[in-house]
Amino acid sequence: MNTAANQLTADEIKVILRAADEIILQGGRTLLAKILKGSKEKKVMELKLDQCPVYGFYKTWKIDDILLKIDWMIDHEFLEIRYDRKLPLVVFSPRGWQIHMDQYTDELLEEWRKWIRDGYQNPDMSYLKDRNREMILLLIEKIKESREKAFIPYLELWEKIDYKKMKQEIRIAIEAINHNEPIDPSVVKAREEAINEALEVEDPVDLKIKCMGCLKRFTFSVGEQQFFKQKGLSFPNRCKKCRKNPIWR
Ligand SMILES: [Zn+2]
Repeated sequence: MNTAANQLTADEIKVILRAADEIILQGGRTLLAKILKGSKEKKVMELKLDQCPVYGFYKTWKIDDILLKIDWMIDHEFLEIRYDRKLPLVVFSPRGWQIHMDQYTDELLEEWRKWIRDGYQNPDMSYLKDRNREMILLLIEKIKESREKAFIPYLELWEKIDYKKMKQEIRIAIEAINHNEPIDPSVVKAREEAINEALEVEDPVDLKIKCMGCLKRFTFSVGEQQFFKQKGLSFPNRCKKCRKNPIWR
């Protein structure tokens, strides 16, 4: 268990998730640390990672300390490691994705508001096509809730270029804004509560897992969990003794 990384705040968790979004399934923890450090290394510049809104967030920190924060994120199940051949790549955990999807859809909405202020009239909406469906539906939901009539021209542009299913969702949002349909505050509240819950940090504890071989419970320590998480392995369902037994190999 590393103790050098103190508990991260909700803001830090969100910042690291935001940076991770740039390299999901493409880069590992070192590249993620470099975004947060604000590195000017060739790879960072080539991938235009300096354009990430949280680029350089930890610029006064040492890279090793930033890596400890990233490991903390893995230990606490906000991020996961997936191996692609020999390469360990960063991916969102389910709760990490839930938190990030919420902040990312807010970011997309803020961008639309900026476009409106700048009088930007013909954005290419194809950037919203073929994105994660769950995320896009959440975005449409938030647009609907915003009741901002100024969004309608963008929605209409978007409607033109997306697939049938999404066209329908976008149309529903346009109608809801046009008719000023009442908003259900309980839906908004439930969503906020779910995010706050996902952000609650619990330190990992030793687990008692029932072995599928001998049916006895075995201890799977915090240290072992950390090792398995960083190797991108799922937790074992057999005790050490049974894992050594050739029958189970
Ligand atoms: Zn066993």
